[in-house]
Amino acid sequence: MTEVATSIREVKLFINGEYVESSDHQQFEVKNPATQEVIAKVHEASYADVDRACRAARQAFEEGPWRTMSVSERCAKVRRMAEIILERKEELARLEALDVGKPYQVAVEREIPRAAENLKFFADFMEKQGGEVYPMDDEFLNYTRYEPVGVAALITPWNLPFMLTTWKLGPCLATGNTAVIKPAEVTPLTVSLLGEIAKEAGIPDGVVNVVHGFGGGSAGEYMTTHPEVDLISFTGETTTGKTIMKSGADSLKKVSFELGGKAANIIFEDANLEKAIPVSIQAAFMNSGQVCLAGSRILVQRTILDEFLERFKAAAAELVVGDPQDPKTNMGPVVSEEHYEKVSSYLDIAKFENATLIYGGKRPELPENLSTGYYLEPTIYLQENPNARICQEEIFGPIVTIIPFDTEEEALAIANGTDYGLNGIIWTESLTRAHRISHHVRAGTIWVNCWFVRDLRAPFGGFKKSGVGREGGHHSLEFFTEAKNICIALK
Ligand code: NDP
Repeated sequence: MTEVATSIREVKLFINGEYVESSDHQQFEVKNPATQEVIAKVHEASYADVDRACRAARQAFEEGPWRTMSVSERCAKVRRMAEIILERKEELARLEALDVGKPYQVAVEREIPRAAENLKFFADFMEKQGGEVYPMDDEFLNYTRYEPVGVAALITPWNLPFMLTTWKLGPCLATGNTAVIKPAEVTPLTVSLLGEIAKEAGIPDGVVNVVHGFGGGSAGEYMTTHPEVDLISFTGETTTGKTIMKSGADSLKKVSFELGGKAANIIFEDANLEKAIPVSIQAAFMNSGQVCLAGSRILVQRTILDEFLERFKAAAAELVVGDPQDPKTNMGPVVSEEHYEKVSSYLDIAKFENATLIYGGKRPELPENLSTGYYLEPTIYLQENPNARICQEEIFGPIVTIIPFDTEEEALAIANGTDYGLNGIIWTESLTRAHRISHHVRAGTIWVNCWFVRDLRAPFGGFKKSGVGREGGHHSLEFFTEAKNICIALK
């Protein structure tokens, strides 16, 4: 089913309502990670191109109708984008599977519909927001307005390109800002279509611009240092977040960062393993483990360790690794050669650190046409030392580590013993323990007896080095707006 890869696409920049070529004619190639075939040639934005995009966004913000049109009219257009995405669902899912290597079925059933929902949700949510009123006796009346900030740089990673970009674009647009978007250079295909989708939805030219390129010394850095950019919403690695914070510091840009994770998935002895095992398999290997929220450290109470290992290993063995376009596939390749090298280096690190290999640990056997793909088996290690590198570092691939513990206190110490704090997962049938542990795990989201369930009104973000700020619901409203207090003398 890889025939979708046969034509090589030309991916242009989208600036001020039209597709344009790179001004200095630079292009880079994008490969299908399942086969290494070149699937696209992408125009790389020069500084002049990023400058044009930022200025177009500024002009659309200052002079265009977008900021001043009624909130209902604006939100109707954002909702229309969501409808167009659903109308183009299959095409977008095919492209995402081709570009990222994720199973088409996951993209078409979950990620692309969720991308549409991101836009629809924030359009509905922002439309219903008001402000506050603070009367001061009979003399003065204070009220608040939430006004758009200006031009937003939206910079996103390669693991969930379309879903994560719309997560930022929805609140950005619904609150009246304009945007310059940069997807990761390895996965630009679906995000490159957002400009034309916005235009078709009736969103004015210059409001949504998409540029392509790399991070440091390229489009990413040009955006984060550009004087016309007021705010940066970034999702990616913690180290990149640090760099971007420094880049934006000179012009005091407002930042929101969603960064790396190394979630503890804690399985207590009273857990319902019928549920915990399949969900933990998902949490470890969905998207080939390339999920910031992955349950990549599984903490198992020693009394159930043997049973858990046996059942978890058997469940991993059932995963179908193969062609992302095939509906039967559960797990595709990792995203790129560079990432494959990084992920597989942890096989040596694990060996060096005396971790016990429970399952996987090598390239799977696959048909000839996938023999050059960046595939790795779902891999499980047992590691007693929670400070080992495979227990501490974000591998971001299909490698999961099981760490045994004896007591609740020990589980908490291990769970909190990393630099990250994006999320945690707890499996127990005890209500009191569920609350107790939830309160003490230092992470932005805790899932009890479930994983990856999101209510878009709820805050999303990380403790410690997993993020700065929160997005979701009114947290996104606060990030994408400036609160203004107006005080009126009544006498
Ligand atoms: P990166 O940080 O490498 O890249 C993310 C984006 O930032 C890309 O578009 C990248 O461009 C760009 N970029 C890189 N350097 C700079 C720079 N100096 N200035 C401006 N932009 C820059 O992350 P990955 O793409 O490798 O994604 C994986 C990471 O994302 C993991 O750490 C994962 O945990 C995290 N993530 C976090 C989520 C969360 O919600 N907390 C959700 C999903 C992922 P380019 O790729 O073209 O170099």
